[in-house]
Amino acid sequence: MERGRRRIQIFSLLLANSYWLFPWKDRIFQGWTKRICFPGLNCYSCPAAAFSCPLGGLQNAIAGIRPAFAVHQLHFGAYVLGTIGIFGSLMGRIPCGWFCPFGYLQEWLYRIPVRKFSLPRIFRWGPYLFLLFFVVLLPLFVVDVVGFGSAWFCKFVCPAGTLEAGLPLLAMEPGLRRLAGMLFFSKLAVLFAILAGCVVTNRFFCRTICPLGALFGLFNRVSLLRLRFDSDRCVQCSACRRICPVDISFFDGTDSINSGACIRCMRCYTICPAGAVSIDLYDVRDHTVQEEKGGS
Ligand code: SF4
Ligand code: SF4
Repeated sequence: MERGRRRIQIFSLLLANSYWLFPWKDRIFQGWTKRICFPGLNCYSCPAAAFSCPLGGLQNAIAGIRPAFAVHQLHFGAYVLGTIGIFGSLMGRIPCGWFCPFGYLQEWLYRIPVRKFSLPRIFRWGPYLFLLFFVVLLPLFVVDVVGFGSAWFCKFVCPAGTLEAGLPLLAMEPGLRRLAGMLFFSKLAVLFAILAGCVVTNRFFCRTICPLGALFGLFNRVSLLRLRFDSDRCVQCSACRRICPVDISFFDGTDSINSGACIRCMRCYTICPAGAVSIDLYDVRDHTVQEEKGGS
């Protein structure tokens, strides 16, 4: 399963950035696929991006909520919320573990052979705080004279934006280099701090900052596809805990197997020697649960 996951991650990375004509064009791609949200963090302004980023779309929808209401446009952000809701309610955080290009990058960075560190559990609140303040409250309440807010997370934090859009656009357009000011350099510092964090801690950005992961994580306990832990089968070998990229410990009761922090990589399912981890798929036709057992 792990090999299949890697293949899907590579395919997703290439699909999300499949506009390879960008070296010969002077504008970022704006074809019809840009109306579709990709289920992962991949900057809209990346020269190769073929789809939209749901996090950017959500912030822009919230930032424009007052002008939208002023003209009685009440379906603001329905498309972005619908995309996140459909993926989340079907599969929870599977987009984080299987589709997200920035998640894949983090897994590569963690392979760099230096001393590794675990994270205190309190950092699990980080993504929810970034979601609340940078994605909802600041775009909603800090507005200009006509009522428009800003995409605060994209503007001040998003490492995918700096890496995939800021740096390539600066390299491609000399005119932009003269305009790069304090904001760009502070985002560059944030990017390097996050990348350094990802080298020493597995999935550092997902676990401490990512608001998109926090949103998908809200669905983990209720999605159609869920994990199940059978404590009667468990032999307490702790292999699942050791292989988990986000340090979830369900075998000893510390965490729920469907914790919002789980990125659904399914490594615990694959490694469990006792078949104590299974994948449940809720069948909406007859309201039953199909169970798939893992392990050897
Ligand atoms: S609990 Fe299992 S599926 Fe979730 S992140 Fe850890 S290893 Fe992956
Ligand atoms: S890998 Fe399986 S048997 Fe071992 S602790 Fe985890 S759930 Fe229990």
